[in-house]
Amino acid sequence: MNLLIWFRQDLRVSDHQALWAACEEARDTGARLYALYIATPKQWQAHDVGPMQLDFIERNLNCLAASLAALGIELELMTVADFAAVPAALGQYLAQRNISKVFASEEVELNERRRDAGLLASGIDLRLFGGHCLLPPGTVTTDAGAMYRVFTPFARRWCALASRQAIRPLPAPQPLGPAKVPSHLRLDVEKRASDYWPSGEVAARERLLAFSGGPLGAYGQQRDFPAMAGTSSLSPYLALGVLSPRQCMAAVLDAYPAALVEEGSPGRNWLMELVWREFYRHLLQAYPGLSRGENFNALGDGIRWRNDATEFAAWCEGRTGYPIVDAAMRQLNTIGWMHNRLRMLAASFLTKHLLIDWRWGEAYFRRQLVDGDLAANNGGWQWSAGTGCDAQPYFRVFNPQLQSERFDPEARFIRHWLPELAGWPLKALHRPAKRAPDLFAETYPAPIIEHSYARERALSVLAVLKRG
Ligand code: FAD
Repeated sequence: MNLLIWFRQDLRVSDHQALWAACEEARDTGARLYALYIATPKQWQAHDVGPMQLDFIERNLNCLAASLAALGIELELMTVADFAAVPAALGQYLAQRNISKVFASEEVELNERRRDAGLLASGIDLRLFGGHCLLPPGTVTTDAGAMYRVFTPFARRWCALASRQAIRPLPAPQPLGPAKVPSHLRLDVEKRASDYWPSGEVAARERLLAFSGGPLGAYGQQRDFPAMAGTSSLSPYLALGVLSPRQCMAAVLDAYPAALVEEGSPGRNWLMELVWREFYRHLLQAYPGLSRGENFNALGDGIRWRNDATEFAAWCEGRTGYPIVDAAMRQLNTIGWMHNRLRMLAASFLTKHLLIDWRWGEAYFRRQLVDGDLAANNGGWQWSAGTGCDAQPYFRVFNPQLQSERFDPEARFIRHWLPELAGWPLKALHRPAKRAPDLFAETYPAPIIEHSYARERALSVLAVLKRG
């Protein structure tokens, strides 16, 4: 009987627990190991997976195929419409190849878990392994065994548990046989190419090493300034599993061995971002409603969103008349990525200034992002809207003018992404409402809404989130 390694959101060969176990068993038993990726275009559409991420998946799949070929394993591509079609197609694939056991990495999203539960129920011997989180969902809990609803105690517990573990990523498995020639795999979906994001594990690890050997030490001071390369830009690789969280954690600890136990360690701030990533994944598993688009805080169901389609289009296209927000949206629309400080600002602007449902913003982000990830995207949107777990309180409404002055003081980021405004004086770039009328140009709109008015309106509409 033969074996299968089924790749999903884990497009790597290093530090891959399921691949490691499958190779061990193939070596021990002499079974042949097949490798498969299942493309699901209709499912991707339903999940708002965007063309830039699909292109990134395709490019990383081909890198994975090359790495597997060097190990003597051929990666095959199967295409079905959606998850509902997987059991029949996979069942037939297994039968044709006399495969008795399937190895795969666990996934945390609800539809993915239902798909896997269905496969198990249909009698397929599916062995699931960890890897998408350093500490698996369900293992970081209060003394009463419940999921934390506040980040800080979760992080404290997470660090205590992680510090008891040896954080040693697995190497790539040894070859199972002579190298093969990889075939080119092509996803038959709408894709958008970007050379901004080189594909493959080697590129991801080089980026990680460059970051951990440099900007990591100053992350706490630089992470909020979008004109600086102060963050890692590793999110696209983590989202597709080209890089594992354990590899990231090991890199932090190599550079700053005390980061898990000392709050003042220079590696600590970045490590906490990795813990936020885990927090949102653990929440997604604990609260299946999040995968269905439900407010974490049910009081959010009472918000009367305005949902003005014209204003939504202006936000999407970077035409709000607030240069910092528009520059951020142009960054997103161009490279499929946005700096975290600006994700928070753009999301706050949509949900609080314009009172547009966070789900509209979540779906738009997902369609544009190369790092689109249900847990982090949902967590970030609900945090910003005030409806989430341990969210930004509803009455904190970011002032785009102050955020602009504080985090892009010389307007380098704004001028880079809105070159048509490069000649504007600095003050006008931060405070467009106060700029001289002769700066109004046909190419750039006046602010869509006045800040103080928007703030008062948001406080009144979002007051339904007031507890008790
Ligand atoms: P770094 O600052 O270098 O952080 C390292 C890694 O930690 C990131 O690559 C990411 O995997 C993780 N991380 C960092 N911050 C967060 C966070 N707040 N929540 C969860 N994980 C985090 N991140 C995504 O990966 N995919 C998304 O779809 C996504 N959507 C978001 C939407 C909104 C509205 C907001 C406010 C945040 C969103 N984030 C998302 C989180 C965060 O903005 C990005 O992870 C980060 O900007 C990626 O850049 P980086 O790799 O340079 O991060």
